[in-house]
Amino acid sequence: MLHKTINFCSQCGSDKVLMQVPSGDTHQRPVCQECSHVVYQNPTVIAGCIIEHEGKFLLGKRAIEPMKGKWSIPAGFMENDETVEQAAVREVLEETGATVDVLGPYSIFSVPQMNQVYIIFRARFVSFQHPFGDETEEINFVTKDEIPWNDLTYPAIGQILSRYINEEDYGQFGLYMGCYEQGIIHPFGNANLCLN
Ligand SMILES: [Zn+2]
Repeated sequence: MLHKTINFCSQCGSDKVLMQVPSGDTHQRPVCQECSHVVYQNPTVIAGCIIEHEGKFLLGKRAIEPMKGKWSIPAGFMENDETVEQAAVREVLEETGATVDVLGPYSIFSVPQMNQVYIIFRARFVSFQHPFGDETEEINFVTKDEIPWNDLTYPAIGQILSRYINEEDYGQFGLYMGCYEQGIIHPFGNANLCLN
């Protein structure tokens, strides 16, 4: 389990913070030895969209680290005051200047090594509302043959794009759940998926 190192207690300022399993708990957590304050660290959610428009995909080239100069679908950290769909749409707008309509969930994958959960949606391009933001160096609509497979940020982004291309040819999109190494593609239209 990855923990950010806690040097000082946020409640009392003590530097006596040790990793312990608090009483009644199941996980090791930073615990202040002076005031018993426990720091709970949980995964962050990264929301994004795979955006197709007239047979092309909207990709952005990162202007900042990590992965400066690499290409990706737009995605970023969810904020406290929004839904995950709102986060995905906001990140697209910030990184590319584009407004999109979310069509459906496409990939939910965990990266336990990084304490992250990615939730990627399929989205429809609507229009450009303003220029792309400072975190982006360049944006481009690329055909499937123009995707810079060797210059993508992470292998998982390549997996999402290649699965999308395959499924579009096949004529049906599924929902991937798992981690980067392994997962299951759940087909839509299955009665077992109905919630009520
Ligand atoms: Zn304390």
